[in-house]
Parts: sequence; structure tokens; C-alpha cells
Amino acid sequence: MKQIVVISGKGGTGKTVVSGSFTVLAKNKIMVDCDVDAADLHLLLHPKIKERHEFISGQTAVIDKKLCKKCGKCVSVCRFGAIKDDFTIEHFSCEGCALCSYICPHGAIRMEENLAGEWFISDTRYGPFVHAKLGIAEENSGKLVAKIRQIAKEEAQKQGLDYVIIDGPPGIGCPVIASLSGVDCALIVTEPTLSGLHDAERVMEVARHFHIPVKLVVNKYDLNPVMTEKIEAFCRDRDVSVIGKIAFDKTVVEALVEGKTIVEYAACPAADEMKNIWEGLR
Ligand code: SF4
Ligand code: SF4
Repeated sequence: MKQIVVISGKGGTGKTVVSGSFTVLAKNKIMVDCDVDAADLHLLLHPKIKERHEFISGQTAVIDKKLCKKCGKCVSVCRFGAIKDDFTIEHFSCEGCALCSYICPHGAIRMEENLAGEWFISDTRYGPFVHAKLGIAEENSGKLVAKIRQIAKEEAQKQGLDYVIIDGPPGIGCPVIASLSGVDCALIVTEPTLSGLHDAERVMEVARHFHIPVKLVVNKYDLNPVMTEKIEAFCRDRDVSVIGKIAFDKTVVEALVEGKTIVEYAACPAADEMKNIWEGLR
């Protein structure tokens, strides 16, 4: 079983267009959407949820009004301004440090586990899909990514699948590292701009730090051929294969509007290139 992650270093490069195409082209696989802060692969896959689970992470302080004597000590120690003048906790401001619960002389503050999101195992027209939704302003997206990757791996082993296809988050932070750990290959999708090159370089360094083989795809390469050449030269210098160049194609936008992957939507140059990319990667 091989695990492949599609990452980008930044949002809006067409990462999900590529990973969405893989969900059609790869046989005998499970898909995972690890962009838990702003999941969107479900918009193409239209999953039917089979299992729904709570994601519990971190703690939040709760004040028992019956025990509280309104002494104000907790307000003065909270460095996050999370305790309001009426001695209630502002949920989104509480960092769960628990200091207030130690300081309260009347034992009025308890720490409660935090429901930070949900994760799901679903069926789609192209096979099983593990995805998640992090709650608004919740943290620990890396922990949630690690959780759904673990679930996907277990499902793949249970069902004897050949691939785990991971749609990774943008950037280079904790959820990206959680998406990269232990994969067999990272495919970076970038666009032909200076910031695209810069962000691809950063995420490439992260992947290489973890000794993960890296390949690269340039999306909408024909919009800036000069920058595409720079990206190719950059990759050559670092021994990174550019396994695909996707031309700008309005059909891709039409497919997205219809909630379909480009490969299933229409025969077009972008769909053909997706097939080449998958074959190259495989
Ligand atoms: S420290 Fe305890 S008793 Fe004092 S205001 Fe805060 S919750 Fe109430
Ligand atoms: S747990 Fe920490 S952040 Fe939350 S209210 Fe108490 S002192 Fe403030």
C-alpha cells in the first residue's frame, strides 16, 4: 500500500483539482482530505457519510456560578482576557491553560474537554473517503490530520487497498507536517508565479527534511512560460522531477462549478495531462 500526498505550499494552486482527478484515476484506493481547516474535496466527491465521530481536543475553563464568589482573581490571572466581567468564559478566547482553575480559592472553575470538530468515514462513487471538519476557531488541526490519516491507513489495510491518496493542507505548518509524515511520495502543485515558486520551495524543504520523495506539477503553466522555465530549472537543480504541466483550461472551472472532477467532466487537454501525471506518479 502506497501513500501519496498532494500539497502546494500555498492555497489556490489547483491542488484539489489534481487530487480530485486522482480519485477517479487511481484504482483500489481510499481518499483522505487533510485540509481540515478548509476542506473542499467533498464538493467534488459528494460523500455519503457512513460513520460520524467527534474530535475531542484541548480543554476549556467553565465557571460554576453557584460556587463563584466573584472575587475576580481568575480575571486578573488570565493572560488571554478570556474571563468576562460577569465571570463567564469567552469560549473562543480560552486557551485551556487551566491556570484559573488552580488559582480560584473556591474551586469554582473546572476544565472540560473541548469538542473541536468531527471526522467521517464516507462512501463516494469512487470509493471510501475519510474527511473531517474542524470547528470554527479551533486549534490542533495537526492532531486531527494525524487522526484521519491513521483511520484511512487502517481502512486501507483492512480492505486490502493499494493507495491512500491524501489531499494535503496548504502552507508548511503543523497540519502539513502531519500530512507528510510517513508518505511514500509528495506531489507539489504550484503555479507559475514568484510566490508559487517561493512556497513550493518552502514545502519542498519540509518534505526533504523528512526524507520524502518529491515530484512537482506546474498548473496553468502557459500563463507565465518564463516563470515556468524558472521553476523547471529550480527543480532540475534539486533533482526534483516535474511530472506534469497543466495548461490553463476554462473547462476545469466549468467542471468545478458542476461539482465534478475534470477527468470525469470532459475530454480536454487538462484531463489528458491529469492522466499523464497519474501514470507518471504511479
Ligand atoms: S476566582 Fe473563582 S470565585 Fe473568584 S471570580 Fe473567579 S471563579 Fe469566581
Ligand atoms: S484556562 Fe487559561 S485561558 Fe482559559 S480562562 Fe482560564 S486562565 Fe484564561
